[in-house]
Amino acid sequence: MNEKALAAALRLLFERELKRAPEKPFGQGSQCLSLPRFRPAVVEQWTETERAHVASCPDYCQRMLALSWREDHPPLAHLKRYVQAEYPYPAAMRFHLEHDGCRRCRLVVELLLLKAVEWLAGAVAVIYGEGLLQQRAAAFAEPRAPVYLRQTSEDGKLIVTVVETDPPEHELKVYVEAPGCGEAGGRVKVTVAGEGERLEQELELEKTEFGWEAEASFGKFEEAASRLGEDWVVVAVFREPEG
Ligand SMILES: [Zn+2]
Ligand SMILES: [Zn+2]
Repeated sequence: MNEKALAAALRLLFERELKRAPEKPFGQGSQCLSLPRFRPAVVEQWTETERAHVASCPDYCQRMLALSWREDHPPLAHLKRYVQAEYPYPAAMRFHLEHDGCRRCRLVVELLLLKAVEWLAGAVAVIYGEGLLQQRAAAFAEPRAPVYLRQTSEDGKLIVTVVETDPPEHELKVYVEAPGCGEAGGRVKVTVAGEGERLEQELELEKTEFGWEAEASFGKFEEAASRLGEDWVVVAVFREPEG
């Protein structure tokens, strides 16, 4: 999306919000950031002054930040800091999680909370499998491509791939690769979590000619998908060997 289109979209969302909550007016102050500053890539480049201002401006700037996440969810690093109670823009995150009720970010926050200690240390890769069942419903009308999702952790040390295998097995499989793994190997904890279901497996990495790898099956694809529901996440966490 280009800058102009994003600015227009944000303005529209913002005006809609104003209408929805007229009892609580919020206005743009002279210090407030211009709309293009809320582009996801730009947010990571905010100056010290901009960051300090947004931290002190829950009503306008944090609201705008939250609205920008309707296009693109907040990066994992933001969710992590929020869970650690170190996030400088908590009003924005609350707006996204509670007002907007983003189910996939809520799932990630829930998992982050459960694993708070591990998450701080190891490489983490997260995949969002939003709308999988919608895709399946659409498949009655036309053939669809099998599910194939791939994500690398922020530090590049862990790659997770979610695959729907071919019939007749037709399984939900998770592959992990750990390019950052040392000679001692390690383990990867894989969690597949949906609305009402959480499936977990701990995998021992094995050295192959390609590097350190492991794979896990989460059963028949149809069954797993219906148990997980529409919004689900796959989280892989690397653990050093114990000792
Ligand atoms: Zn502001
Ligand atoms: Zn979200």
